[in-house]
Amino acid sequence: MIKAGTFKGKTIAVFGLGRSGITAALSLKAGGATVLAWDDNPTSVDAAKDKGVPVEDLNKYNWDEIDELVLSPGVPDNLPEPHWSASLAKEHDVPIICDIEIFAREVMARAEENRPKIIAITGTNGKSTTTSLIGHVLKACGKDAQIGGNIGRGVLDLDSMHAGTYYVLELSSYQLERTNSLRANAAVFLNLTPDHLERHGDMDKYEAAKRRIFRNQIEADTVVIGVDNSEGRRICSELKVSNGRRIIPISGRKSLGHGVCAIKGKLYCAQNSSVHEVADLKKAQALEGVHNWQNAAAAYAAVSSLGIDPQAAGDALLTFPGLAHRMETVGQIVKVRFVNDSKATNADAAKQALSSYEDIYWIAGGQAKSDGIDPLSPLFGNVRKSYLIGEAAPRFHKTLNKSKIENKVSGTLEMAVLCALRDALNSDAKNPIVLLSPACASFDQYKNFEVRGDAFREQVQNLADMFVKEKRAGDAA
Ligand code: ADP
Repeated sequence: MIKAGTFKGKTIAVFGLGRSGITAALSLKAGGATVLAWDDNPTSVDAAKDKGVPVEDLNKYNWDEIDELVLSPGVPDNLPEPHWSASLAKEHDVPIICDIEIFAREVMARAEENRPKIIAITGTNGKSTTTSLIGHVLKACGKDAQIGGNIGRGVLDLDSMHAGTYYVLELSSYQLERTNSLRANAAVFLNLTPDHLERHGDMDKYEAAKRRIFRNQIEADTVVIGVDNSEGRRICSELKVSNGRRIIPISGRKSLGHGVCAIKGKLYCAQNSSVHEVADLKKAQALEGVHNWQNAAAAYAAVSSLGIDPQAAGDALLTFPGLAHRMETVGQIVKVRFVNDSKATNADAAKQALSSYEDIYWIAGGQAKSDGIDPLSPLFGNVRKSYLIGEAAPRFHKTLNKSKIENKVSGTLEMAVLCALRDALNSDAKNPIVLLSPACASFDQYKNFEVRGDAFREQVQNLADMFVKEKRAGDAA
């Protein structure tokens, strides 16, 4: 754990006692602050108390005595409705911060030569993949990489810092909004599409929150920016004129005169009018698809800007094991490959998998988002047949019928897997893919997308074992 020594002697309210809230409270307490922690859920308050967190009903406290409020990023301070703790903080001029701000102040309090390196990653999509990939490359290159923030461990739960530590931090727009002091040695901005607008109000405000990742950067620092969409290109041009930072544009699909780009899966680095090949990403099964090539370009640009050996970094990209539930290959039965993309909870996310494969036996459905699967119709050509599950099945059945895509309402995931396997095995496709990329939330049938993906993986593994046993029995007979 990182101790928040910069808060020594201050009185700090902490609202929201999930994992990161509890860690923030303990870090502040260990650093010498007076902590007043609270949550609307009494069970969370009790759990925090058991872990040694000092609790206090903030509703009843005199807010004139509070110096700052650490507010859980998930709790709104403005839209759609400000939480009561945020309203009280604003009434009493108490600044609202989050755990990333506490971490940033600890870093900035150290002499420059003793500061760790910080790589911060944001964007609408691809944050977790890119963050893990950067962590993987740094570790493979022998560095002490601490990976956290909006993924895995909360930032204050990471190991304490020294000059050789690399903190690789996934940052959400909610966290960035409450962070003022972070200086990222490399700031990665992947992409921007409409999201979380109920919380930010409009696209301009959402973009402004994300752009805070560049705050406090100085000339020695690097911006890595995705230019595969128009927003990214505009932000890149705006940053070029704003100060002398090194700017590395990245692309997953088009050639760049300066920057890191993937063309048909080959990753290139273009610099000072010379271009060299970094890696053949087609050899990395966990980095399939143009979107993942963009993530790989971002990871390579970020680590090479911090002086990591380019050859070793390029090689390490190829050994990335990938993240669960994101185009994760979970098994193979004869010629049929099974891919778990349960994280694709909307059409935009499912687009990536549908455009990455051909001869797809597509399992879709669950709790549909407002636009259903209509935006995916340009990709239906890659689908051989679809198997529909959950609440959305009747609606998706109609959409697919309109586009003349063969489909079947399977109802459950189990039935869908069995039917898809049978059809794929009997097809003339050379390398068919049974793809779970539901374009839907899971809540009608599963607790969350992880549980849905785990159920798919388990069924595939059981079927694969069964096939092996049957084959052995057949061979022995
Ligand atoms: P996040 O942490 O931002 O939600 P993930 O790395 O978990 O992102 O990926 C979630 C989904 O977003 C993936 O399953 C994929 O469909 C899509 N995705 C990943 N990387 C990108 C990218 N660079 N551009 C667009 N979409 C992406």
